[in-house]
Amino acid sequence: VVVVSTLVFRILHGSRDLAMALVDMERHLSYIAETLKVIGKAHEVVDLDDARPFQKRGGSIVFEEVTFGYDDRRAVLRGFNFAVKAGEKVGIVGPSGAGKSTLIHLAQRLHDVESGRVLIDGQSARELTQESLRFAIAVVPQEISLFHRSVMENIRFARPEATDEEVRQAAHDAQCHFIDDLPDGFDTLVGERGAKLSGGQRQRIGIARAILKNAPIVVLDEATSALDTESELAVQKALNRLTRGRTVLAVAHRLSTLSEFDRIVVMVDGQVVEDGSVQELMEADGAFARMWRLQSRGISVDDALDQAV
Ligand code: ATP
Repeated sequence: VVVVSTLVFRILHGSRDLAMALVDMERHLSYIAETLKVIGKAHEVVDLDDARPFQKRGGSIVFEEVTFGYDDRRAVLRGFNFAVKAGEKVGIVGPSGAGKSTLIHLAQRLHDVESGRVLIDGQSARELTQESLRFAIAVVPQEISLFHRSVMENIRFARPEATDEEVRQAAHDAQCHFIDDLPDGFDTLVGERGAKLSGGQRQRIGIARAILKNAPIVVLDEATSALDTESELAVQKALNRLTRGRTVLAVAHRLSTLSEFDRIVVMVDGQVVEDGSVQELMEADGAFARMWRLQSRGISVDDALDQAV
């Protein structure tokens, strides 16, 4: 009886362990899948054998005679020159297909350029290790991907070694006060099957991640979707906190944020057609000024630019 019951116990115990292991494995696999989803598509760039780590300086970005296309037949950028000084805040505007996203992707080295160089703090992006470059640049995408994990883990994703206190501070700085009203505060599960967050709340989680990362350069793809006035104000406040004292390269879609930038660069067909402060561009009375006038009639920046160029 003892032998049989021991055997039965072992089998049951073993199967429980097996079941636990399977549950654990499922959790790990889903975490890996979610991570890949957040990181985005597989990187097509590879580190050179003698790739160097990025040396943090002020946070400048320079495009030097850059030519790049997604296929060999058509270059999106050709001999493209562009520079953002350390600490400068530059907003990129342009009609759809102008190359705005391509520009901010190349600044992050999501692709390698065909010819020319992208220099981050004077160092050619192609010659740096991708891992070190990731620490130099905090990205706030248009659509924030959230894991089915706690709010705490979702924010900490930007800097896994951050303490709870650092995560709370970043959330506070990013105006994520709504977290206090969630059922379990920072322990509340969000994401696919968790608490549903509004568009403005998701954006602020994205901004909290970027604040936590504490990188010298912020790359921002401003959301096109309109938010209610209260969320709009909170997101703007969070962005002001994030961008303070950092270099900013942003694809700007909203008139309300344009005045926050030191410089606006108007791109059309892979070329810079206007470049200056809002005031300078208004005085120049070109495409930007036409866009501004159209936009005040309620047309989006991109659509208005499409009509203005
Ligand atoms: P939008 O405001 O619509 O996002 P954009 O100004 O950001 O436009 P890009 O997305 O940079 O423009 O696109 C520039 C050009 O490159 C377009 O002609 C586009 O069709 C093309 N393009 C962009 N991404 C890819 C890709 N992954 N593969 C092939 N062509 C692409």
